[in-house]
Amino acid sequence: MLSDFVQKAIFIFVFCIGAAAQAQSPVAIALHGGAGTITRAKITAEQDAAYRLIMDEVVTFGYQRLNAGVSGNQVVVEVLQKLEDSPLFNAGVGAVMTWDGVHELDAAIMDGATRQAGAVAGVRHIRSPIEAAQKVMLHSPHVMLTGVGAEEFAQQQGLELIDNSVFTTERRQKALEQYKEHQSLISLNDAQDTMYQDYKFGTVGVAVRDSRGDLSAGTSTGGMTGKRWGRVGDSPIIGAGTFADNASCAVSATGHGEYFIRYQVASDICARMKYLGISLQQAANVVVNQVLRDADGEGGIVAVDSEGNVALVFNTEGMYRASVDTSGKKTIAIYRDE
Ligand code: ASP
Repeated sequence: MLSDFVQKAIFIFVFCIGAAAQAQSPVAIALHGGAGTITRAKITAEQDAAYRLIMDEVVTFGYQRLNAGVSGNQVVVEVLQKLEDSPLFNAGVGAVMTWDGVHELDAAIMDGATRQAGAVAGVRHIRSPIEAAQKVMLHSPHVMLTGVGAEEFAQQQGLELIDNSVFTTERRQKALEQYKEHQSLISLNDAQDTMYQDYKFGTVGVAVRDSRGDLSAGTSTGGMTGKRWGRVGDSPIIGAGTFADNASCAVSATGHGEYFIRYQVASDICARMKYLGISLQQAANVVVNQVLRDADGEGGIVAVDSEGNVALVFNTEGMYRASVDTSGKKTIAIYRDE
């Protein structure tokens, strides 16, 4: 019979080994705040600094939460909520406006360990669309809920419903005015195709590998300025703007959603890794810089793979992006040449 003292000592030893193993398991995080015509000429020094500051804060927060053992799914939600609350991004507060001058929000989350997923689309009164998407994943038998039904479900789940005007900012009101002015000068067909050249996207998304090695991804957006007829983009569509599978990678995309839907960008990157045995970086490069570019689809992705490799790939002039890799190396960047 071991003495009490020896038993306690063994317990403490085993506990410490476990904690050390947990702390050492490599976590990684990559986030984006949208891609588009983002150049130094178009952004003031103050704006540049403000974007870098919030991305730094949020990516550091996410990395710390992952290292503390919080599940990847939960970290995806917490990180995106911080970005939804920032008026700088096109998600939650600060979301772009539809043709009718309101906000219709889309979000999705996917759990790479179970391939469970949840999404909401076209919601107008849910304060945190990514949290609603998580509720759909965890507490409904469905993957995607839309509009009024999604809001009813969210309310039943105890989420706060708010006035649509809470999301409104002056900047997005001006963008809608400019967009309408531009549209009045061109035909409807051209309008469909260009969705206004000078837009900066601003969708937010994140991909993570947690301390158990599980992958998750999530995306939240207001879509595109001036969207009509209940248009839904790629962000809430599993496989297009959001995808995660422990066997390959987790991806969140941003860009001209119609192309990302038709080319199934997020799942195509993971499928290429899995079936062709190529690296995450190679797969993302081919899809974003060849397949999408050849089709004139603008945008980018952030991704992590099952080993914790990170990819930040885009074919536009800039993409707000931040990551911390498994060695703890942090990247914060905006423009193509950095
Ligand atoms: N992909 C989003 C959409 O098409 C927009 C964006 O990423 O900025 O709705």
